[in-house]
Amino acid sequence: MKCSCCGEDHIICPGDIISRPSEIFASCPQCNPKPRQKEKPVSPVEDIPGPCKCGRRFIDDVMADIYQILNEEGVLNGSEPLSSIGTPLICPGLFLRRPPMLPPRSLLIISDLIPVPVAKIAYKKIPELLGIVYHSHEIPGPGDVTSGQKPSINEGILLCGCDVRADIFLSGSGPVVVIKKQADMHIEFPKGIDPKISSVEKHVRRLHPEVFIDACAGPGTLGITAAHFGVPRIVMCDVWHASIWSAIQTIRVNQRKLGITRINILEDIEQRPPVWTEKPVLICDATGEGISIQLYHGSYEFLGPYLPEGKRLTVFDPFNKESFRKKDQFLAAWSEKVGGEVFIP
Ligand SMILES: [Zn+2]
Ligand SMILES: [Zn+2]
Repeated sequence: MKCSCCGEDHIICPGDIISRPSEIFASCPQCNPKPRQKEKPVSPVEDIPGPCKCGRRFIDDVMADIYQILNEEGVLNGSEPLSSIGTPLICPGLFLRRPPMLPPRSLLIISDLIPVPVAKIAYKKIPELLGIVYHSHEIPGPGDVTSGQKPSINEGILLCGCDVRADIFLSGSGPVVVIKKQADMHIEFPKGIDPKISSVEKHVRRLHPEVFIDACAGPGTLGITAAHFGVPRIVMCDVWHASIWSAIQTIRVNQRKLGITRINILEDIEQRPPVWTEKPVLICDATGEGISIQLYHGSYEFLGPYLPEGKRLTVFDPFNKESFRKKDQFLAAWSEKVGGEVFIP
């Protein structure tokens, strides 16, 4: 699928995943990956191996190549460990048993030490690099906010390339692809058997809800998973603009598999305030045979009147589960007013 951000065709759809998704990063018989020690520096004179004939290159060699560029440009002095570059994120993200062989434009780096001009040089020289994002060490976004509180916002900065990533979560109903504008989103990487995905699966199979409410939707992971398990009506809500942007892309990428025939965007999310803690505003309405998904920008506290009729199941997936669990009164009121079961995955 074409990326809505950079226009390049670098977004994987569920329909593109024919064999096991991990094949994307598997080595061919010629690849010969040699793991490096991440706590050691890379010599400036080492000849770093280039890509294999299959077009892929071992992640440690790609990181070592980036290290040499940072050293040459004076960002590193050559004594720092290889791991000091930052956090590598593969695209698409999926659970792997061994370190990946990277195809072109499949690595996003999250770092706090690379200046823009050097990031641009690295992007030109390293074919495997999808992009570099600057991040301080805060979680991007406003975190958990309630109406009436002023949120503190952390946003990352895209230094080069593109930061739109896909993550592939495996479920009992096949792969669920989730799209994230990574500079502005919390990192949540797929695990082997993902506990949140299994929790949605378990609740949906047991309760057979007609309406599934993903109240802190983020990029739409849990709501779209419920749709994959056949829940006919999905409502997703989030206060953060980048979550809404990402959730729209998640709907688009899963469109065919879910039988969605029409996606109606009612308001341009990029023109809205970054954080909206007031009454929810409908941003995207997607429908098809036996499926409808509504995506709202706003606070779940006011979502009640906007919910369709039918047997309901609500998931709350906040950042801070401990403090959220203390909101007894709110959860009791939600069960009473909205009805149906509520769970925290
Ligand atoms: Zn892109
Ligand atoms: Zn190879």
